[in-house]
Amino acid sequence: MHDVISPVTEEVVATVPATSAEETDAAIARSRAAFERWRVVSPGDRARLLRRFATVVDEHIEELAGLEVRNSGHTIGNARWEAGNVRDVLNYYSAAPERMTGRQIPVPGGMDVTFYEPLGVVSVIVPWNFPMPIAGWGFAPALAAGNTVVLKPAELTPMTAMRLAELALEAGLPEDVFTVLPGKGSVVGQRFVAHPDVRKVCFTGSTEVGKSIMAGCADQVKRVTLELGGKSANVVFADADLAKAAAAAPYAVFDNAGQDCCARSRILVEASAYDEFMALLEPAVTGFRCEDPARETAEMGPLISAQQRDLVASYVDAADVAFRGSVPAGPGYWFPPTVLAATSTQDPHWREEIFGPVVSVLPFADEAEAIRLANDTEYGLSGSIWTRDLGRGIRVARGVETGNLSVNSNSSVRYWTPFGGMKQSGLGRELGPDAVAAFTDVKNVFFSTEE
Ligand code: NDP
Repeated sequence: MHDVISPVTEEVVATVPATSAEETDAAIARSRAAFERWRVVSPGDRARLLRRFATVVDEHIEELAGLEVRNSGHTIGNARWEAGNVRDVLNYYSAAPERMTGRQIPVPGGMDVTFYEPLGVVSVIVPWNFPMPIAGWGFAPALAAGNTVVLKPAELTPMTAMRLAELALEAGLPEDVFTVLPGKGSVVGQRFVAHPDVRKVCFTGSTEVGKSIMAGCADQVKRVTLELGGKSANVVFADADLAKAAAAAPYAVFDNAGQDCCARSRILVEASAYDEFMALLEPAVTGFRCEDPARETAEMGPLISAQQRDLVASYVDAADVAFRGSVPAGPGYWFPPTVLAATSTQDPHWREEIFGPVVSVLPFADEAEAIRLANDTEYGLSGSIWTRDLGRGIRVARGVETGNLSVNSNSSVRYWTPFGGMKQSGLGRELGPDAVAAFTDVKNVFFSTEE
């Protein structure tokens, strides 16, 4: 068994099973058996079951959000959005089973027909930063495609995923079609990688573990999707609406206490606007509301663990703090929103993913330098460009090597559009209209028309 700790109170909120390797193998075997039944459920019925699952999630938004506040310390506003995102993603992909049409391709001597075949048992390994949405981005399209799913939540944040598995059964999904196995990455996650009946690993987490999963999957040529770390740039040109860019910047990095792979943790500001931008940014940062995440007004809660807080602090101790916000005294793994003035692109806080409420700011001279600095990282997940010049917005967006960009906005994830990283931020894409096909293999069948 494993104690789940509240990052707000530092007290035990629940005790959950730590699934063993043997139990994981047994669950995979049940999932494999269920696949034979699930894949032949008619597309219309599969769609109806996913819609019913979405409805049941919708009926439990408050309960799921409350669980996430207690388990993960997310603000209640964010947690409601996260539960709603699971509902929306299920609804979106419930349209897929009845639209998984292949192609008919005329070829010499006959005709070729393509089919999207489900893979079998698909695994989803979820990190602790967004336990509900990241689970849904994996399991919803995977189930829609006709696969069964085994899912491992992060050890620190298993509560909502375990509840979602119960809600799936309540909605009528057959037993063993969607299985949540709480436990350690080195045990449960490792079996997902090594077990031959698991045909795909959908992993979100650190680049380091992602690389080891990719290497492990190579052994069986197992399909893998990797959604890894980031160090995204928020590029602000002098011609931008500076007040809007500065007011939005804290939310782009301090939301979820900065524990966000899409966090815009590097702000690049055109030198001529640097002083004005910093003057506008300061009140937005000092006014950021860090308080009990159960309060409706909270904008930021604590970090997930004492370990994460200490890691974040280690980047700030030696750096030049420009200004920072404040956090409540007393229990909880709090760390204040902090703005650092970068002095060099070699500063560790400029280069490394901190995964906390810390942002580094650096001036740039011109458009070419902005692109060069934005690309001077091993990561490429997200980013923003603020300018009133449409042509520049397009040029810089094409120049920045990253998977998800926003111009005059800081949004990253929309379930209608593909999401994923370039360079060491990942491999493959989640969400968007093509995500279901990523959980299938395309089969072509040739029909000879010769007499
Ligand atoms: P990890 O990559 O260690 O964990 C992510 C998930 O993978 C967890 O469910 C974890 O299980 C599991 N896992 C760990 N090791 C293995 C393994 N060998 N085989 C299979 N699964 C495994 O991230 P951390 O939680 O340790 O966070 C460390 C850093 O990673 C953060 O500070 C941040 O920089 C980055 N990160 C990035 C995320 C993103 O969204 N891109 C998300 C989370 C972290 P377990 O719970 O047992 O550890």
